[in-house]
Amino acid sequence: MRGTEYMQSKRFAIYTRISRDRVGAGLGVERQQEDCEALVQQLGGTVSAAYSDNDISAYSGKHRPGYEALLASIKQGQVDAVAVWHQDRLLRRTIDLENYIDVCQRLNVPTHTVKAGHFDLATPSGRAVAKTLAAWAAYEVETSTDRVKAAKLQAAKAGKSSGGNRAYGWNQDGMTLNEAEAPIVREIVDRFVAGTSWNKIALDLNARSIPTAKGKMWTAINVANVAKLKRHYGIREHNGQEYEAAWAPLLSRDKWEDLQLAIKRGQALHGKRTYARVHLLTGYVFCGLCGNRMKIINAQQRDGSYSPAFSCRKLDHRGQKVGCGKVKRKKDPVESLVIDCIMYRLDTPDLTAMLATRESDDDLKALVRDHESQSLRLQEILDLYSTGELTFAEYRTAKTSAQDRLDALGSEIDRKTSRNTIGLIPAGQSVQKAWEKADFEWRRQLLDVLIDKVLIYPKQPGDGRARFKQWIFNPDRVEIRWKA
Ligand SMILES: [Zn+2]
Repeated sequence: MRGTEYMQSKRFAIYTRISRDRVGAGLGVERQQEDCEALVQQLGGTVSAAYSDNDISAYSGKHRPGYEALLASIKQGQVDAVAVWHQDRLLRRTIDLENYIDVCQRLNVPTHTVKAGHFDLATPSGRAVAKTLAAWAAYEVETSTDRVKAAKLQAAKAGKSSGGNRAYGWNQDGMTLNEAEAPIVREIVDRFVAGTSWNKIALDLNARSIPTAKGKMWTAINVANVAKLKRHYGIREHNGQEYEAAWAPLLSRDKWEDLQLAIKRGQALHGKRTYARVHLLTGYVFCGLCGNRMKIINAQQRDGSYSPAFSCRKLDHRGQKVGCGKVKRKKDPVESLVIDCIMYRLDTPDLTAMLATRESDDDLKALVRDHESQSLRLQEILDLYSTGELTFAEYRTAKTSAQDRLDALGSEIDRKTSRNTIGLIPAGQSVQKAWEKADFEWRRQLLDVLIDKVLIYPKQPGDGRARFKQWIFNPDRVEIRWKA
């Protein structure tokens, strides 16, 4: 050991990680951090940096931004030593360890742990200890996963319930029928087989104030999912395999066949699902009377032809009251009016300047990083489900919340980048020209930068005589709320 090594205080990097695994379970990042700081102090060093990863199992081998940053700063010589709570916070896989040893050995950076003391990766014996610890950690994870998997498979083969969220029509034990809900399951299946749509059944149940298993309103998808639950028909599913259930079925296998036929018939009848076309103003138009977001419908004209119109709908797809249902306006003149107003507004210098200011790249990068780790999280949820560590119900709940967060981040990024895109109106080109040349996406982005909402108010006496271009239409009944 060189004599100068402890002469000046060593720069320590602290690494903490939260994971769901059992080793060191429940120890929060703050607690790990405090313990490590105490250790650094005890060793006479100073903390120069702290890195952390949250809720990502080291064993799964996923990207860990905190760990990567730690390695990078070691490589750049910014760190003299590393402090972690336990080695397995840092390294669980032997392949990680090889890489870590390689870097630390080369740069003579030791690692100290609160739990297992100092392991000196510069010596063969230190490395052997570290490798053994990593091998044992991996073994422990593998065997506990195997044990859980084996237990689940055994339960499935015996036809026992998998636990988890309560299925509609059944009690929490998964073995006995829920007296109130079981007849509803029968009704749903019978009615669908008889030709009633999922949607109609959902509206009906909501009208009768019958809630879902979670106490919510029904949607067509909920209803279909309940009907398709294999457990009703005495089938226990596990990882794509089917087993004879240990509970008494609510519906016969014949019913299951009927249901499959009815589903096929429905698909043949209605074809593939079509998605609503997105119009320029889709999502921006609201009812001036009640504030409800207006939908585009095909409205019949006096001459019998159909043309798109904004409409305030009374009921949503679940049959829940959402609007007054009193305001309706042809789409084309509204769109044309809004475009005219945008052109007029954009022809002012201060607005052009506003559009030229770009979001700072740092904000955007942080968002992109968030987005990245969130999509890793989503992938991880899928992995946990595919290995049977999550039930389908748990998977769906976890996936929905992760997906929502991911979508929110995605649209935030879109918004910020759209601002940047709009900054690129070619010099010397008028907004009018840029608009004419631009594609639909660009126009939607521009709209999003400029417009908060468009309100449409009810017609008033005399509006029948008002003209706007080729339409019978009174522009005074439309209000544009600007963002900028
Ligand atoms: Zn309304």
